[in-house]
Amino acid sequence: MRCSKPVPRASVEGLGRVRLLFLAVISAAGISSVLLSTGASEQKRISIYSGTANYTLNVSDRDGKEYVDLLEVLQPLGATSTRTDGSSCRLRFGNVDAEFAAGKNRARIRGGDFDLPGKFKLENGRGFVPLASLSTLLPQFLGSPVTFRESSRRLFIGNVAVHFTAQVHSANPPNLVMEFSSPVNPMIATEPGKLRMIFTHEPLVPPGSQTLTFDSRVIPSASYTEDNGTAEIAVSSNAPLFASFSDDGRTITIAPAPQKQAQLAPAPAQQPVNTPASPQPQITTPPPATLSAPVLYFAVVDASHGGEERGAALSDQLAEKDVTLSFARLVKQNLDSRGLSAQLLRDGDVSMTADQRATLTNTAHPAVYICLHASSEGNGVRLYTAMLPVGGESRGPFLDWDTAQSASRATSQVLASSLAAQFEKRQISVRSLMAPLRPLNNITSAAVAIEIAPPSGNAADLSSLQYQQLISESIASGVLAVRDKLGTVR
Ligand SMILES: [Zn+2]
Repeated sequence: MRCSKPVPRASVEGLGRVRLLFLAVISAAGISSVLLSTGASEQKRISIYSGTANYTLNVSDRDGKEYVDLLEVLQPLGATSTRTDGSSCRLRFGNVDAEFAAGKNRARIRGGDFDLPGKFKLENGRGFVPLASLSTLLPQFLGSPVTFRESSRRLFIGNVAVHFTAQVHSANPPNLVMEFSSPVNPMIATEPGKLRMIFTHEPLVPPGSQTLTFDSRVIPSASYTEDNGTAEIAVSSNAPLFASFSDDGRTITIAPAPQKQAQLAPAPAQQPVNTPASPQPQITTPPPATLSAPVLYFAVVDASHGGEERGAALSDQLAEKDVTLSFARLVKQNLDSRGLSAQLLRDGDVSMTADQRATLTNTAHPAVYICLHASSEGNGVRLYTAMLPVGGESRGPFLDWDTAQSASRATSQVLASSLAAQFEKRQISVRSLMAPLRPLNNITSAAVAIEIAPPSGNAADLSSLQYQQLISESIASGVLAVRDKLGTVR
């Protein structure tokens, strides 16, 4: 059931219906080395798209074949557990049991034999399967077909594809209007003669023809390509272009940057495109709403679960609700000590619904919302940003409850990338996902959920103060690093 809840107009007005200034400042050299080249040094990746989560995983070579960690593939799709016993690895996904043996091609799934196109590899308790097996292996677990675009390593589960149309309108100046069947949030890079949109999290599929030609001298063509877990649309032009988003990310309009408008644009958009190569592509985001609300808290930290609702049983003694609370308190401490005032949604063992969490957060108008979960499965952290439902719209005086996050998706991504960088810096393994997790979709500010697993498979480590401090420090530093992009308290 969809319910619309009134959110005061004032809280969303400043974000604007049409987001301009989405011009990314990425040097041409920077982005091609990070994302688009197929050089030997580039990390191979696979992107997986489903109704449950969109995520990207690392792919590695073994015996001349590409392999992927099977647990990493399955975990975001549903409850998964593994038990390794010598050279055998038992895996349970939902109610499907499977058994794999190290060095063997043959596995047992649902009580039957299943042949892998390469040997199963067991390394440090992690099971790896040939990438080429996924199109037949995953349906065994999921019970639904998958489409694997192997040459670009993009795997679609179920009917999730995002389609688009492109049309040049002959206004003066002409503009290219691209309509997407679901909201998109690509990284955008400009270089002379070209504007590139790179889609990592969206299950975008090609139009009928890879090259689109338009009856326009200013914007003569656009091309679609896929590579290494990403899709790209490159728009060619003989004039500098800029992109603007509307309709909650379903429409991207690309037009020549008018001289006057470029001069009036706020500082971030004025940065020269060829700034020194940065290690990661950066996205400049719209300036935050400027409302004269009293300064409350910069961040809201949400310890998930609580009270009757215990969350996962992490071990015999350890309930998720207690672990998330101790993490939340430390995260608050670390934020406070960096001058980023933080508020805990719950500071005791009380239960709250997702709606209550979202309502309290939105009423507080923080710049950042951080939700904490804990898990005994896997290791390191999983970093979630919202995946908005298809067809949701927020129009009119009230913000649609299910897509309240739509105006902040870009800042949420900026926050998530910054957090990921800080975790990596501290050698904490991190995976980034998009998922329709509640209450992320209902939060109006930049929002992430962080699921914390132990550093190396031992659930007891989740209550180690040293590990909790390392994680909390990473989170606070990650927020601090992009503080200016997240804006001030609204
Ligand atoms: Zn949880």
